[in-house]
Amino acid sequence: MKSREKPRAVVIGGSLGGLLTANTLRAAGWDVDVFETSPDQLDSRGGGVVLQPDVLDALAYAGVELPNPPGVQSYDRIYLDRDDHIIEQLSMPQMQTSWSLLYRAMKSALPAYALHAGETFVDFHMEGEQIVAQFESGRSEQADLLIGADGIRSTLRRRLLPEVVPQYAGYVAWRGLVDEPDLAGVAADRLRNRFAFQHGEGYSGLCYLIPGENDSTISGQRRFNWVWYRKYSAARLDELLVDRHGVKRAFSLPPGSTKGADIDHLREDAPKWLGPTFRALVDSTDDPFMQPIVDLLSPKMVFGRAVLLGDAASVPRPHTAGSTAKAAANAHALALALSSTWQSGVTIDSALKRWESQQLQRGKLMAELGISLGDRLMKIVR
Ligand SMILES: Cc1cc2nc3c(=O)[nH]c(=O)nc-3n(C[C@H](O)[C@H](O)[C@H](O)COP(=O)(O)OP(=O)(O)OC[C@H]3O[C@@H](n4cnc5c(N)ncnc54)[C@H](O)[C@@H]3O)c2cc1C
Repeated sequence: MKSREKPRAVVIGGSLGGLLTANTLRAAGWDVDVFETSPDQLDSRGGGVVLQPDVLDALAYAGVELPNPPGVQSYDRIYLDRDDHIIEQLSMPQMQTSWSLLYRAMKSALPAYALHAGETFVDFHMEGEQIVAQFESGRSEQADLLIGADGIRSTLRRRLLPEVVPQYAGYVAWRGLVDEPDLAGVAADRLRNRFAFQHGEGYSGLCYLIPGENDSTISGQRRFNWVWYRKYSAARLDELLVDRHGVKRAFSLPPGSTKGADIDHLREDAPKWLGPTFRALVDSTDDPFMQPIVDLLSPKMVFGRAVLLGDAASVPRPHTAGSTAKAAANAHALALALSSTWQSGVTIDSALKRWESQQLQRGKLMAELGISLGDRLMKIVR
């Protein structure tokens, strides 16, 4: 790095982790460019995200503005039985937003020249103190820091820690979105203003409202976001991961890709497990999508001038409602650690070392919490 020049980071992955990193690092005085393999806008999954304080703190630091309100408030948690009776009700106000709302807000806060779509990272090498990222297109980019925010199947992690791979936890999350007016009145009335659950022997459902397609939080324009956790053998999961065009998906089934027969099975199975409210949600969803639940925990996040964060570093199970919050905390803490490096005597390497030990601990605690919550909920004995 030349003196008095801003340091530069190259971020791989333009989803929430990458955008959080780019926005917070820019606020810390770094030049940042983001390289995303997908050539298009990433908005196809747009499901619900519980809006945790870590996300709001990171966005406030970065000066990223969210719409007001940034999500839909729920006031109570309710637990339903299979006959739809409320067996427990707790006051627990919290806010739920959508993946797409966060994505749009963070993306539009970055200058267009810093975003590079359709660039697939393949490898890196060092040139002195500089790290050089190489892309499938033949492009190469030199920087002080290379940040892998490239998700659960991270190329950078595969290069650095090939032995660390996601482990299937034995169950999946079926998910869906239903426009508020499309859900029958009785079910909609049960769910409004609430975070609803239905737990049973080895399965679990949950539902909450999130902003509508255009980020609207006005009553009638929002969407119900539901999740149904169910167990499948690894062999059955392999079959489910074959999409409606016969293509074997490596990791999950985004909306619109589930086979018609699998959607029919899901609807046929719903009455065996779910009460009327959750059944109505499944029946009203055109294109349920599916995400296998996996465990992943990297023992390291810093490798010289290469860094892993967000899902690339560790994946807490969704019962923690914390993977976006963890990515936000990783990014915010990294920006704070690096903010002083280019003007003071703190070196990038010593700042990274301190950051790593804190963030590894956070990832480990969240991963362990998710495993314990999930295994208990799904009655999995290991
Ligand atoms: C399209 C999409 C929709 C999602 N929707 C939801 C949702 O509705 N609710 C929810 O809770 N979570 C959702 N998630 C997951 C959520 O974003 C993450 O769990 C969490 O925010 C941590 O994000 P991440 O950025 O670390 O990882 P990810 O969100 O998985 O992002 C990784 C990014 O890296 C890109 N990438 C991978 N390999 C390369 C490469 N070699 N070169 C360049 N780019 C690469 C991927 O295309 C992806 O955009 C979604 C993720 C994606 C990608």
